[in-house]
Amino acid sequence: MAIQKDFDYLIVGAGFAGCVLAERLANVSNKKVLIIDKRNHIGGNAYDCYDEAGILVHKYGPHIFHTNSAKIFNYLSQFTQWRFYEHRVLSQVDGKLVPIPINLTTVNKVYNLQLDAVGLTRFFDSVKEEISCIRSAEDVVISQVGRDLYEKFFRNYTRKQWGCDPSELDKSVTSRIPTRTNTDDRYFTDEYQFMPLHGYTRMFKQMLAHPNIHIAVSTSYQDVKDVVSYKELIYSGPIDEYFDYCYGKLPYRSLQFKHETLDILQLQPVAVVNYPNDHTYTRITEYKHLTGQIGINKTSLTYEFPCWGGDPYYPVPRTENKEIYLKYKAKSASLPNVHFVGRLATYRYYNMDQVVGQALTLYHHIAQKQLCNL
Ligand code: FAD
Ligand code: UDP
Repeated sequence: MAIQKDFDYLIVGAGFAGCVLAERLANVSNKKVLIIDKRNHIGGNAYDCYDEAGILVHKYGPHIFHTNSAKIFNYLSQFTQWRFYEHRVLSQVDGKLVPIPINLTTVNKVYNLQLDAVGLTRFFDSVKEEISCIRSAEDVVISQVGRDLYEKFFRNYTRKQWGCDPSELDKSVTSRIPTRTNTDDRYFTDEYQFMPLHGYTRMFKQMLAHPNIHIAVSTSYQDVKDVVSYKELIYSGPIDEYFDYCYGKLPYRSLQFKHETLDILQLQPVAVVNYPNDHTYTRITEYKHLTGQIGINKTSLTYEFPCWGGDPYYPVPRTENKEIYLKYKAKSASLPNVHFVGRLATYRYYNMDQVVGQALTLYHHIAQKQLCNL
């Protein structure tokens, strides 16, 4: 059988961004799509699979779905059932495991106090620093909880995670983590907090299960760009690579993962334990908490070791990087048939739901353009 070479769309990257666009373009617009990924699987960084112990693990670290958008949740619900799961994280500080985000329980445990919510508000008022213009990831925390808690929970974790001091990072980085005066120890407070019942990969397979969608894994953009023909390109890889680094390299922070299975039922009381001040890894994830799997006498874990130079995972939110990105973005405007979408191509520290939202918006623009061209 001859390999089809004519497509309406070539989609580079089979993560959330690429899969949403492929699904919409095939299902709603009846377009012929080729979606490729240089990895040997679909799903991008959200890829999951069953390991030898039969536990559903995330190859690229823990991915917990949460959103406040009914639209995004309903969209994905077409392709998966869900398991209710509220994420909780503990941080090892001064030899104790205490909840993060910092809340009433955290402060009482760290300082051996018995404050109530009013007392904690007074406590924060006495330790927080007045910062007239909050710019950096350090400013955010110090202006809420003061320097001591900042140093215990944030400074070293952030240095490890990003390879620079929090004072050099945009405020958006630590603004992701709230401070609470109550005992709510959930990591997220979003309205929808669920894990895909059978995993992300199964959900992506459902999204791509359409006769108009052709999937090629272990295939890079370089491999196909001059081999197949297509009318438009959707690109979700790093934008600087697309333009041959003509304005310089954009830094993406990377991670090395150590996956491990232990012959014990459970290691940790919660799915994730953070280690701000100990070890070279930032956190350990124990997957059974995410999946709710019972009846397996083993437990599987992932350790995350931040580094430079590996696969690109995190755009680094700093002013100078944004300036470089904006040059690439301006250049991309001269290519009307090339669309950049997703965390790497738009250089944004986006969660999965935000990438889905961005991809749906791009689809809407493409569909509008098609209508205008009729
Ligand atoms: P990706 O998933 O990175 O997909 C891009 C794909 O493009 C990749 O598979 C890559 O191989 C492919 N590609 C790149 N260049 C080429 C090329 N030249 N040719 C072919 N293929 C190419 N979000 C949450 O909401 N909750 C979480 O708990 C969460 N945890 C995370 C934990 C970690 C450790 C990381 C790194 C991210 C986490 N995220 C989380 C963010 C989430 O991973 C992203 O928002 C989402 O996966 C981005 O999807 P994407 O399609 O933009 O990019
Ligand atoms: N952070 C920290 N200590 C923690 C948790 C988070 O310093 O215990 C900071 C750190 O800079 C991190 C950022 O807050 O990169 C965002 O945390 P999040 O858990 O959202 O990171 P992600 O899951 O995206 O890696």
